[in-house]
Order: sequence, then C-alpha cells, then structure tokens
Amino acid sequence: MRIWESNIRKVVPYVPGEQPDKENMIKLNTNENPYPPAPGVRKIMDEFKEDTLRLYPDPCAGMLVKEIANYYKLKPEQVFVGVGSDDVLAMAFMTFFQSKKPILFPEITYSFYDVWAELFNIPYVRCSLADDFSFVIDDYKRENGGIIFPNPNAPTGLCERLETIEKIIKYNQDVIVIVDEAYIDFGGESALSLLDKYENLLVVQTFSKSRSMAGVRIGFAMGSPTLIKYLNDVKYSFNSYTLNRFSLEIGVEAIRDEVYFKSVNEKIISTRERVKNELLQLGFTFPDSKTNFVFATHEKYNAKDIFLALKENNIYVRYFDKPKIHNYLRITIGTDEEMDALLDFLKHYIGK
Ligand code: PMP
Repeated sequence: MRIWESNIRKVVPYVPGEQPDKENMIKLNTNENPYPPAPGVRKIMDEFKEDTLRLYPDPCAGMLVKEIANYYKLKPEQVFVGVGSDDVLAMAFMTFFQSKKPILFPEITYSFYDVWAELFNIPYVRCSLADDFSFVIDDYKRENGGIIFPNPNAPTGLCERLETIEKIIKYNQDVIVIVDEAYIDFGGESALSLLDKYENLLVVQTFSKSRSMAGVRIGFAMGSPTLIKYLNDVKYSFNSYTLNRFSLEIGVEAIRDEVYFKSVNEKIISTRERVKNELLQLGFTFPDSKTNFVFATHEKYNAKDIFLALKENNIYVRYFDKPKIHNYLRITIGTDEEMDALLDFLKHYIGK
C-alpha cells in the first residue's frame, strides 16, 4: 500500500440494481414506470430555450417548489427539492441524524439507509419485522437519534396503516422521523395528513416512480418550515443537490398534469392486481403490495434459480442475496405485455 493510500477513506461500494441496456430486454428490476412521462413534457423539451443553459439555475428550485406546494396544499416553505429522493434522503441523514444515539430503521428495508449511515458515521439499529414483514411498533420505542422507514416498505411492498405510522411519530417527538414515500402513489395512505400535527415529521417523495421520471432525478421532502429551513441551510453549504434548468421545467409540467398521473397509476395498480392473482395460481405468495412491484416467493422453487433463468431469457427482476429474503424476487410491474411474458415464462418454468 502506498503511504497516501492510508489516508484515503475506503468503502465497500454498494451495488445498486442492474441497469443493463440490451435489445428486447424486459426490465422489471428497478421499479421504473413502464409508461412515458406526462405528454406535455415532450412540448417543454421541444420548446426549451437552450440559450438559458448559459445561466445557473435557481438554487432554490423556486418554480418547482411552488408547484409541488400548490399540488399538496402546503406552503412553499414546507417543500424541499433535490436531485432524486436518494439525494434528498442523503441530505436529510446529514442534517437530522447527528445525535450519538443510533437511528432506527426496519431490518428489511431500502438498501441505502445503512450505506448512508456508514458513510456519514451515524450509528444505527435495525428494528425487527414480524413474520409477515409488518412493523413491530414496540421496537420503535427504544432510545434513538432519529427514525427512517419507507411506507410502503421496500422491497416487501407492504404498507403500514396511518395509525401505526402516527403511533411511531407520536412516541418519538424528540427526534426527526422520516417517512420515505417513494411508492405512496400506488395505493398507500400518505403521512402528509400528519404534517400539521407533528413538527418532527419529514415526508419524502419522488418523481421517479409514479411520475415516470427516474431518468430526470427529482425528489422532494415536505415538512414543517423549521425542518425545511434546516435542510436548505445544509444544502446551500454544499451548493449541490440543485436541479438543472431543464429538469425544473419538465418537473413543473409533470406535476401539473394530474389527469395523466392518476390514469397511469390506476393502470399500474390494475396490472399489479392481475399479476398477483396469476402468481397466486402458480403457487407464489407475497406480502400484499401497495407499490409498483410484487415481492414474491415460491415454496418449491428457489428464487435465485428463477432469477437466473429469467435473466437467461432477457427478463430482469431483482434478487437480494440477504438473510430472510434470499428466497424472494422483487418484480416490477411493467406493461401488460411485459407481465404476460414474465407469467408465460413462469408457467413454463413451474410446469403449469
Ligand atoms: N426510497 C426508496 C424506498 C426507493 O426504493 C427508491 C428507489 N429505488 C428511492 C427512495 C430513491 O428514488 P429516487 O432517487 O429515484 O427518487
């Protein structure tokens, strides 16, 4: 090892879901939306004035903040915008989780939480889940320096009731509780309605899933003006996490078109329910997903073998080589045609 190497921070890199780019592949592995963004986005792209790219964008993302606030009936001071919800969440870890006490998150959850905790030297404890993957509320009553969980949880897809979420927030009013609602638009009950009651609550959402814009990178947080101010103070100190001019304009268009947004989500929900029924008939079981994916397991067939066999056939789903979930596959809900191809393959594989 060279001497200067001893001064370098070493991390084991986190490997996110595969992003292969193969012809005719069916990509059901990273929960992207199979439908295009709102039709108006095309027009904005065509009419975009490239000369404006000479100028820095508004660091406060004012036009998008205003639009999001308007949509969710909040004040602009209650909205924070970032480059994908991953960036918003990472920023929130840096801002709110500074206590020496461990933060809490579920034992099976979004893989980035422990990555960020380790990267930012934040101690953490994983809270257990019941056998059906539901939250064990008492585990959120231990001493802690903050709490974060997705609702619906990922990769289980299970959505906790608002009552449960409120109990956790209410018990933990001395710390910040972050509810990561990346998948909330597919049938879950949002914690936004609790914002008026709890100043320590931060709700984080994204344009990547329900608004078909994973490639643009827009995420946002909603909370009390006090929390949003703290987030902005940290963000401005970095001068990063700033949306570019192009993203700002198409983001505004995507949030304005509520009719399209709702129709795409309804379509995904109906495909999901059909896929659930068909998977059940093939002998799969899964938590009751309220997301754009299903987390499925089969008693007789090994998940990793199915994952590899699907991949051989150009169908990509997600497999996690982790304790307790190594026999599950996370399958994103794609178009009806994509799901038919997956189901046909599984029927053949299982011999039905
Ligand atoms: N939270 C959860 C639970 C997720 O699954 C994801 C996407 N994989 C994100 C946050 C981040 O989404 P994005 O950065 O695309 O907004």
